[in-house]
Amino acid sequence: MSETFTSVSQEEAGLRERTRLSFELDADICVIGAGLAGLSIALEAARLGASVAVLEGRHIGWNASGNQLGTVMPGFALPLTDLIERIGFEDARELWALSKEGAEFVRANATEENMPGIAPSDGVLEVSNVDAGDRLISRLQMLNEDFDTEVEGWQVDRVREMLKTDHYFHGVYYPRALQVDGRKYVHGLAALARRAGARIFEDTPVVSIDHSGIRKRIVTPSARLRATHIVLAGNIHLGAPLRRLSETLLPVWRYAGITAPLGERVHEIIAFKGSVMDSDGIDHFRIVDGDRLMWASPETTWAARPERFAGSVRRRIRSIFPELGNAEITETFGGATGHTVHGMPQIGQLRKGLWVASGFGRQGMNTSAMAGQLIARSILWGDDRWKLFSPFELVWAGGATGRVAGQLVGIWGRASSAAAGSLARYRERARVKDREREARLAEANRAAGTGPRRLPPRPAPAPEHAAQGVKPAAEPAVQDQSVSQ
Ligand SMILES: Cc1cc2nc3c(=O)[nH]c(=O)nc-3n(C[C@H](O)[C@H](O)[C@H](O)COP(=O)(O)OP(=O)(O)OC[C@H]3O[C@@H](n4cnc5c(N)ncnc54)[C@H](O)[C@@H]3O)c2cc1C
Repeated sequence: MSETFTSVSQEEAGLRERTRLSFELDADICVIGAGLAGLSIALEAARLGASVAVLEGRHIGWNASGNQLGTVMPGFALPLTDLIERIGFEDARELWALSKEGAEFVRANATEENMPGIAPSDGVLEVSNVDAGDRLISRLQMLNEDFDTEVEGWQVDRVREMLKTDHYFHGVYYPRALQVDGRKYVHGLAALARRAGARIFEDTPVVSIDHSGIRKRIVTPSARLRATHIVLAGNIHLGAPLRRLSETLLPVWRYAGITAPLGERVHEIIAFKGSVMDSDGIDHFRIVDGDRLMWASPETTWAARPERFAGSVRRRIRSIFPELGNAEITETFGGATGHTVHGMPQIGQLRKGLWVASGFGRQGMNTSAMAGQLIARSILWGDDRWKLFSPFELVWAGGATGRVAGQLVGIWGRASSAAAGSLARYRERARVKDREREARLAEANRAAGTGPRRLPPRPAPAPEHAAQGVKPAAEPAVQDQSVSQ
């Protein structure tokens, strides 16, 4: 079934009647926040038999979780080599395996039967902005052999057969990664959690908590709740209940747009059917609704209305795919993502019965699902694998000063990767010109009957032309999406 981004369900339109907590309640687990993280935890815990109440200050999927693209990849924002360096090979392997389990949780739940219209489809392509094919091989080997992840390396020609642009070079194709209708998924999760027995209360902001006793107290404007466990899944908006926790996240607002129908030509220019992401975390797009292009790109460290970014999404599309011209943007959306200083999500128990699940950054689909599984299984089964996240402490993200610094570093990071991309394209054009010049010189020699003259030595072949004969290098070519902090 194809994705339909034009019609929204009753849930999405907010027409479904919302239930506010207006009476005193007791539960095993109180989850604060009905985004991807809170609802994944609620679903898993309710399935395992706990009584669960979710308290949401606004409505389900109000922020990033209801305004995202739905691409589901393994891994984290922190590049894999950095992860290994930080915690060692064995623990990195375990964390990576958990991140894959998170992706499989999404796959298992996001079926047409469970979530009508969710339109799951396989295959995601990560493309490199720079020409560094020599390092691609070591990354592929590492993912395939050491991290048990199915991946295919694509040479430049293949990438450009699929995407008619000279912006991208090599690619890593993940056949087991998938995409779903991201804006429908969070409502599907809520429906599944309710079916499993969880109770979800909207328009119910948590204004304070007392986590000192065995039974913890949660206060909302109209009622109180008592629970043995509290899970803080409020992302950057948690606010009053634990302000210091919110300050460990750098908020980054990300925006996306969807074009008007582009007709058949969009398939000639973008033949790849799944999501495409560049390795610097700048562009992320795919075709939806048959012939519309959905594209996420601009980011800010302050909140703004997504409509303001229609122009920059349009310009970005034109600069990558000039043949698409000035595509009209008919829809925009966006939300705030919470980034940690170290690039790994915050998952774990802060003190007995007080849990945190946040900091999922740009990659929240698989990681929030993983958090749901880890926390619910720890509470109900005593599975303590969440401790693998212990090396990633809660680090202060710098408050307002941190936001300014984050924006500057983000701009610098994006500008430097754009510059690296331009340089790679410049070198490629220079190589082509060089070859043309040589051919003309040889032709002129033949015409003049002077026979082939000794030509100056040719520059070394580009890695993509050198194909398989390249020695693996130590560093990966196409890095995992990194947080621009
Ligand atoms: C444009 C865009 C595209 C993206 N695309 C992808 C993608 O393709 N793949 C991917 O993996 N990730 C993607 N992401 C990232 C992903 O959306 C986020 O990582 C994820 O949604 C974070 O989920 P969350 O539950 O932590 O936070 P949120 O979605 O922010 O949910 C937290 C909820 O908690 C509530 N809350 C907070 N405080 C309180 C309180 N005190 N009381 C009650 N309720 C409270 C809030 O109202 C909110 O609804 C994208 C993000 C954006 C913005």
